[in-house]
Amino acid sequence: NKITIAIDGFSSTGKSTVAKQLAKHLGYVYVDTGAMYRAVTFYAMENGLIGDDDFNVEALIYQLPHMEIAFKFNETLGFAEVYLNGVNIEKKIRTLEVSSFVSKVAAISQVRHKLVEQQQRMGKDKGIVMDGRDIGTVVFPDAELKLFMTASAEKRAMRRYEELTGRGDNVIYEDVLFNVQERDRIDTTREDSPLVKANDAIEIDNSNMTLDEQFDKILSLTKM
Ligand code: C5P
Repeated sequence: NKITIAIDGFSSTGKSTVAKQLAKHLGYVYVDTGAMYRAVTFYAMENGLIGDDDFNVEALIYQLPHMEIAFKFNETLGFAEVYLNGVNIEKKIRTLEVSSFVSKVAAISQVRHKLVEQQQRMGKDKGIVMDGRDIGTVVFPDAELKLFMTASAEKRAMRRYEELTGRGDNVIYEDVLFNVQERDRIDTTREDSPLVKANDAIEIDNSNMTLDEQFDKILSLTKM
């Protein structure tokens, strides 16, 4: 019997890594909801609605209907890439610049409303692994398995730093650490659906776990 798996937690806790592994292993669909908030942020940056000293929230809300976000499975990569108005933006949304604005965009109720609705449509059939910040609390409160991922901020920042430098981005560790902590702060204190562990979620602290250990543990939970 297929189930719905909700994976939430702080920034850079490796949610998407384990979600992809699980989806592949179980033959489920994986949805990266962070990519959707990043897509809206990317649109805002491209259209001059957000920058270092300005943020035109009104215009962003007004233009929401013009943002069509979709996922297309990439056979080579083995996961679905995100598209904005028909254009593949998967790589462009992973920069530290997008990361530095995304939590502010995700705090806007109208943005959340649009994306949560789309996420619920995408996950209406079981056999889905969805990761984000509010999946077990808001998007799928009835999910059969809810995980809440944590790890120390330093571990998370180091992983993200290695990922960014690995793909050739010129970043410094302190900036990445600041970004991780700042996003946690904004995500946990926003008014609309703040990041919080669902009562029935199982907490996984992977600070000292290998990817294999983490996967085995989580896979065993899907069989309970
Ligand atoms: O998962 P990822 O780090 O790519 O998410 C980027 C940002 O999008 C998060 O820091 C958070 O502000 C926002 N987000 C959210 N709700 C979700 C997924 C992501 O608010 N379900």
